[in-house]
Amino acid sequence: MVEALAVTDVPGSTPPPRPRPVVLKFGGSSVADLDKIQKVADRVAQRAADQPVVVVVSAMGKTTRDLLARAAELTDAPTPRELDMLLSTGERASMALLALAIGARGIPVVSLTGSQCGIITDHRHGNARILEVRPYRVLDELDQGRVVVVGGFAGVSYRRDVTTIGRGGSDTTAVALAAAIGADCEIYSDVDGVYTADPRYVRDARRIDVLGADDMLALSRAGAKVLHAQAVALAAERGIAIYARKADGTGGQTEVRTNPASPAPPIRAVTCTDPAHAVEIHGLATGAAALRRLAHLRLSFVHLSPTGARGLWFPGRTSDPATERADMEQTAAATGARLQIGPPRALVAVVATQAEQAPEIFEALAGAAERAEAPIDGFVTDTNTLGLLTDPGLAHVVARDVHASLVTPPDRPARFPTHVD
Ligand code: ASP
Ligand code: MG
Repeated sequence: MVEALAVTDVPGSTPPPRPRPVVLKFGGSSVADLDKIQKVADRVAQRAADQPVVVVVSAMGKTTRDLLARAAELTDAPTPRELDMLLSTGERASMALLALAIGARGIPVVSLTGSQCGIITDHRHGNARILEVRPYRVLDELDQGRVVVVGGFAGVSYRRDVTTIGRGGSDTTAVALAAAIGADCEIYSDVDGVYTADPRYVRDARRIDVLGADDMLALSRAGAKVLHAQAVALAAERGIAIYARKADGTGGQTEVRTNPASPAPPIRAVTCTDPAHAVEIHGLATGAAALRRLAHLRLSFVHLSPTGARGLWFPGRTSDPATERADMEQTAAATGARLQIGPPRALVAVVATQAEQAPEIFEALAGAAERAEAPIDGFVTDTNTLGLLTDPGLAHVVARDVHASLVTPPDRPARFPTHVD
């Protein structure tokens, strides 16, 4: 009796609980050259001393863009399957190089492709959705004490073809893996979090410490580049917190979570997108059938009215805009409708609590457009989002002005009340 107690109750005789794994994601600019890869390897080495680590990497620098350009030199209509095969090599190169650098530090490491990690997608090449993650290989490797380096952005379809999940998709790979293995997710880039505007063109922009997932989703949908919209949506759905930080370890961070512990003040942030095209659909009757067809066009911010429908198309968000455009046109034609695709425009948007009911936000957008002499070619509302479509060349000027009106730096008095309830 006493002996049995002695065996089971000696403090420390049970193995300590295993530390929670972490997924660290490094974007293209953080692995742009070998020096930067060495720095990432150092950071991974530090973390691996404390807990199991999965690292997700993007392709080095502008590799994806360059690969797309090379394909375009060979053909106007690249086969989507081959394009995905080509693009996935970018992430494959960076994952192998990083694994070599980590291994050279004496740390057990293995690199794995999305497909080896069990990332199963639909077969929509260039813009596939992750359907399921079967993380057995990743968990096995972590159990063996290895750091796992994963190439982001690519998965495998049920037809066993390599797919890619949309530009910027490595964030989504990271969140999907974190959800599958019960890890925290840290996303490293060249900014130390999410700002009230892109600090690259709005100098007064301030970092936001804690953000609700809904607000982050609104920001990503309206053009904030720090985090990929699909990744944020997935994190919200699976209750995963995301920490956005700067790759060199300097600065602060933004924590994005479903239920922020302290209710954050209503956020106000200004975003600006890459070129979008306003798409008008003529000859589309209203009613249930039209609504169903709209779904296949995969537009953003869709609006159906008795005279037709409209929405925005962001060609840069998939790796294969040419095929996407052809698909849209075919879908419309099959129903007797006609698509009219407008010239490139930028969306400048304000994300704020109940933005659509705040007169001062309308005023800030209108005033900024007037002062910049920027055309207003359309107006967009979404959950907590209000924005205008304008000339891409003037969009940053408008965004700066709107930010100055609505997101006042602490040392300057507010021009408008900052609370909209
Ligand atoms: N390399 C891919 C891209 O440039 C994916 C990513 O960076 O997340 O879109
Ligand atoms: Mg990227």
